Amino acid sequence: MSKFWSPFVKDLVPYVPGEQPKLAKLVKLNTNENPYGPSPKAIAAMQAELNDSLRLYPDPNSDRLKQAVADYYGVSTAQVFVGNGSDEVLAHAFHGLFQHGQPLLFPDVTYSFYPVYCGLYGIPYEALPLDEQFQIRVEDYARPNGGIIFPNPNAPTGCALGLDAIERLLKANPDTVVLVDEAYIDFGGETAIKLVDRYPNLLVTQTLSKSRSLAGLRVGLAVGHPDLIEALERIKNSFNSYPLDRMAIAGAAVAFEDKAYFQQTCQAVIASREALVAAMSGLGFEVLPSAANFVFARHPQRDAAELAAALREHGVIVRHFKQQRIAQFLRITIGAPEQNQALLDALGTIL
Ligand code: PMP
Repeated sequence: MSKFWSPFVKDLVPYVPGEQPKLAKLVKLNTNENPYGPSPKAIAAMQAELNDSLRLYPDPNSDRLKQAVADYYGVSTAQVFVGNGSDEVLAHAFHGLFQHGQPLLFPDVTYSFYPVYCGLYGIPYEALPLDEQFQIRVEDYARPNGGIIFPNPNAPTGCALGLDAIERLLKANPDTVVLVDEAYIDFGGETAIKLVDRYPNLLVTQTLSKSRSLAGLRVGLAVGHPDLIEALERIKNSFNSYPLDRMAIAGAAVAFEDKAYFQQTCQAVIASREALVAAMSGLGFEVLPSAANFVFARHPQRDAAELAAALREHGVIVRHFKQQRIAQFLRITIGAPEQNQALLDALGTIL
């Protein structure tokens, strides 16, 4: 702390990102990256941008990418916003759509960035408990609020809500924005983008970091009513009018166009997840039903923090959260088959 800090910064509790270890040899199953690389066509498109045109600013509206997303989902480009990772898209949504003085509602086990944005933008919030099965209780959200946000599938549980439940929530809250954070939707959930034409208060965010394996490129997006998108554009233009660089626009657009590679790699991750769930259950773990590229699991006889530390000694890193309700769980990213086998071998030795 320094005397130069504003009172606001002194009070700010920042987000703590998952570890990005400098040692290459670790089996890294801690931050939900995709074990398969990005689409080779997307890489080629990015390489084609590495030339003298980098002298020029990129398109501030990222039209090429918006068009690719609009084509993919059958919406108009006026319904699409893109930004520098979905974290940035979320930041703009909190700033532009949730700052009404009323509490924002989100689940009490959820993406830990949400309370950070609330702190950043002075938004009061209420965190509503999950049920016994770690599911979101939709009926609890029918109360006065300044907005609602939740990931679907939820993070770090991996549990998904169906579109029927999301529609009930939208119908109960027609006057505030409902933001569905679909960072992990492509691994088994059903996208709420199908509902945006019917609900002008629905905003859906997605990322290219997981199912499109471009975490290093930092691209995220939002789809919703053009009025919601316009609010995000206003904030963006007042913050960083060129959030996406030339390589990001080209690579992300092609990643959306290359559907065959996307489907093939998502299917491979899903198949590995099912195999991992079966093997971990065989080792005595209770694994929550996952529609994501990770599993959330606890071992009834073993302390999760100790397990995470023991795995690390075997060269495997997974994520452990200290928050009380989930302190007995480990969140484990689905890796390539050989990485999952290394995890299972290590668990077999430890247990
Ligand atoms: N939402 C959720 C639920 C996440 O888990 C993550 C990844 N940490 C993000 C959003 C942000 O992803 P990115 O900024 O890489 O798009």
